[in-house]
Amino acid sequence: MTKEHLWAPWRIEYILQEKPDYCVLCEKKESSDSSRLILKRGKDAFVIMNLFPYNNGHLMVCPYEHTNDYLALSSEVKTEIMTLIDESLSVLKKLMNPDGFNLGMNLGKTAGAGIDEHVHWHVVPRWNGDTNFMPVLNHTKVHVEGLRETWKKLRLEFDLLK
Ligand SMILES: [Zn+2]
Repeated sequence: MTKEHLWAPWRIEYILQEKPDYCVLCEKKESSDSSRLILKRGKDAFVIMNLFPYNNGHLMVCPYEHTNDYLALSSEVKTEIMTLIDESLSVLKKLMNPDGFNLGMNLGKTAGAGIDEHVHWHVVPRWNGDTNFMPVLNHTKVHVEGLRETWKKLRLEFDLLK
């Protein structure tokens, strides 16, 4: 049986672009939640949308601390990450009605981590047949606009959880 992969052509933008000289998961003073597509800020961890998603609603949950050492995170931080993953699942379920989810971490480049210097969990909603999904709107600009629309809807739901 061949393994099916999600077809996400916009990810080529990510693969081809020059790597930024800063960590995209770390705070920049001038940035706002809406410009970074942050959905929820906890005490030690936060939820952010993936700019180069494998699927609509692809979220990431990560600590504020810039570290590639998952084992070194305190149990308090790990507990908060798990709570934020729970909240992400319930918000995505409510708003996007997916048929399933992929949850996980890629630790290290060898394991497929795109950002291997800052640990993060992926929360990817899945729909029946989405491996054959061919996005009509694969122009980058249009795609970013789509992300912003999704951010607005998801953010409202996350705010309701507070
Ligand atoms: Zn970082």
